[in-house]
Amino acid sequence: MGWAIALHGGAGDIPLSLPPERREPREAALRYCLQIGVSALKANRSPLDVVELVVCELENNPHFNAGRGSVLTNEGTVEMEACIMDGNTKNCGAVSGVSTVVNAISLARLVMEKTPHIYLAFDGAEAFAREQGVKMVDENHFITPENIERLKQAKEANRVQIDYTQPIQKDPPDETVLANGDSQLGTVGCVAVDSEGNLAAATSTGGLVNKMVGRIGDTPIIGSGTYANNLCAVSATGKGEAIIRATAARDVAALMEYKGLSLEEAAAYVVEKCVPKGNVGIIAVSASGEVTMPFNTTGMFRACATEDGFSEVGIWPLSVQNL
Ligand code: ASP
Repeated sequence: MGWAIALHGGAGDIPLSLPPERREPREAALRYCLQIGVSALKANRSPLDVVELVVCELENNPHFNAGRGSVLTNEGTVEMEACIMDGNTKNCGAVSGVSTVVNAISLARLVMEKTPHIYLAFDGAEAFAREQGVKMVDENHFITPENIERLKQAKEANRVQIDYTQPIQKDPPDETVLANGDSQLGTVGCVAVDSEGNLAAATSTGGLVNKMVGRIGDTPIIGSGTYANNLCAVSATGKGEAIIRATAARDVAALMEYKGLSLEEAAAYVVEKCVPKGNVGIIAVSASGEVTMPFNTTGMFRACATEDGFSEVGIWPLSVQNL
């Protein structure tokens, strides 16, 4: 038994050639957020507080597809989604279609703690945010030039894309697009367990680039993108539709509960057998302090640490990356 924490900044088709100016700020953010989470766990903050704290930090960082860096819908608007879950009680809260709330994850927690419900969306979620007095800003705050460019590229290619999809290369290659138009940006999540085995999970996203207005992905759906019980806490990232079909996060817990699989075996099974290749990454911790971060995409921005001194920060499979 011991504390453990893992976080992600999205999974997808992340090229090994990712330029340093795109890679380094994200790696630095992962390290920084990991350290914030570890310090909070060491200071005996509850896992629920820890995952909210870390995800807020990632939401405030424009290098990730959540909060400030959220990608745009097909109408150029922002519709953020977030979900938080406490393992012991299975209390959970989720929001979708939020466009002016600075930290959607904190709003999800308020839904969990201050309403008789689990999930609020669109106008109702915004009204609840106003009523709760959470920090809100004009929608334009979230519409960054980078995300306008990403939407333009997705529209030109006529596709709805996972935030890490590489731009379609023209022949001859369009150097401007390659230099400025990378879509390497990701959904964020955090899972944590304290040394008493209390677990929590949180995930936050802007969704997919060029998604239809009103589209809801896996992130806020309990058991798909986010899940925690008394055995494990799980946060998924990738193509939401594929993750929803697989009920990926809940399946990890179910394999442990019903089949007696270890955390690592359960998460590996879901990633390898339940979600088509190229579509998912998972971070998970167990009540006994194990951690695992498998993915079937090219890469996943990720970081973890455990009480017994293990720590990893990575993007690609460890066999190919040299951080
Ligand atoms: N899973 C998210 C969605 O489909 C996107 C991501 O994880 O990057 O909305």
